[in-house]
Amino acid sequence: MADRIVNGRRRSDDLLLDTALRDFYGAADEMGLSESLISMLSYPERRLDVSVPVEMEDGRVRVFKGYRVQHSTALGPSKGGIRYAQDVTGAECEGLAMLMTWKCSLAGIPYGGGKGGICCDPTALTRREKERMSRTYGARIAPIIGRWSDIPAPDMYTGGQEMVWIMDTICKMLGHFEPAMLTGKPIDYWGARGRTEATGRGTSTCGLELMKVKGLNPANMKIAVQGFGNVGSYTALLLKEAGATIVAISDTTGTYYNPKGINIEKAFEYMNNNPSQRGRKLTGFEKEGCEKLGLNDILFLDCDFLFPCALQGVINQETAPKVKARYIIEGANSPTTVEGEEILKDAGAIVVPDFLANAGGVIGSYFEWAQNLQGFSWTEADYNKRLVDLMTENFNRVWAFAQDKKVTMRRAAYMQAIKRVSDIVALRGVYL
Ligand code: NAD
Repeated sequence: MADRIVNGRRRSDDLLLDTALRDFYGAADEMGLSESLISMLSYPERRLDVSVPVEMEDGRVRVFKGYRVQHSTALGPSKGGIRYAQDVTGAECEGLAMLMTWKCSLAGIPYGGGKGGICCDPTALTRREKERMSRTYGARIAPIIGRWSDIPAPDMYTGGQEMVWIMDTICKMLGHFEPAMLTGKPIDYWGARGRTEATGRGTSTCGLELMKVKGLNPANMKIAVQGFGNVGSYTALLLKEAGATIVAISDTTGTYYNPKGINIEKAFEYMNNNPSQRGRKLTGFEKEGCEKLGLNDILFLDCDFLFPCALQGVINQETAPKVKARYIIEGANSPTTVEGEEILKDAGAIVVPDFLANAGGVIGSYFEWAQNLQGFSWTEADYNKRLVDLMTENFNRVWAFAQDKKVTMRRAAYMQAIKRVSDIVALRGVYL
């Protein structure tokens, strides 16, 4: 993917990176940020491209392309996931690393932004191939990874197992144990209790705080949650526990609707115990007193709050005019397109942007890192309380700023996030 310079500013042929750059320029211009700071922050500090040779089961060696990008270390070590996917490119990692810089900054945690990945089809690899790939990738990015330099985490198609392979390899190279070098580890292997629910806990906290500032009683709120995976399922559960009525949930098998309220605990139980399916799906959940609707119908239901917690781009030019919910909390990354948000804004709806609403995940990672550095594990109650406190503080800071400046919450979030980073870059000077 090639870079271009348009009106003196970096642009990219990669859609994700280009969108990240344009969002940054929009907020930076509104803030009056200097061109020097704009140009410094539009490039990553460091990008490492690696080849990842893997001996496949048939004895042949295949070489995969891997990347690790550190967009900014102005606020602290860079933090961000490692993904295994067929569309991973260096440019995409640059865009995602930049978004992590803003997310960590907005979350009020002492991290910059990073991202990495390997271009591969993870579903076509055997476990042993994946292990060899993870270990070789880990060894090749090892020189720039560390608890005070760059701290990876799981992302698409990676989880605790891949983190253990990468960490184990780097520890062997170092010759000593170093658990704080990455997060998302299994609980019994220096992971953190509470991390599984962390993103959903943060997303639901944003919803409940929005109700507070709008004077809405959770008990009167009808809520639809798209996606019943890690983020969506815990968001739905925690909102129900707070007294709201979850009228609809959905996954790839369709939308499950009950205007009187869905029993979310039962949905969990159903998903975990249903023997007729593979891959934790809600197939057949209509038997539990729900009406089954089409996949996208969840977006258009009569409800107060919509939590898109599945995919990017679902609220767009075509779907946004039909969205009835007045409050949209983005649990997923980029579920609303620029055009979709314009339509929602004109209709008077409020969107809580992804990098505020789903920051519970990275805040939870920060807590894991902090515990690893201390060599002391917190109770789950302590972890949850700190997470809710920080999310509450962050939501209200962005809300107040948006009201004050009369801008959308997304623009307010960007402006606050960029300000924290650019102030420190200016303070530390060019020789970062
Ligand atoms: P997941 O794989 O656990 O769950 C995704 C869910 O979405 C599944 O229930 C799946 O069936 C459903 N889904 C997929 N396509 C759908 C469709 N067309 N309609 C309805 N449902 C559909 O993933 P997750 O970890 O919950 O992540 C969801 C989103 O949140 C992603 O955008 C992810 O990048 C983002 N996110 C996740 C975390 C985290 O900590 N898990 C943190 C920040 C952001």
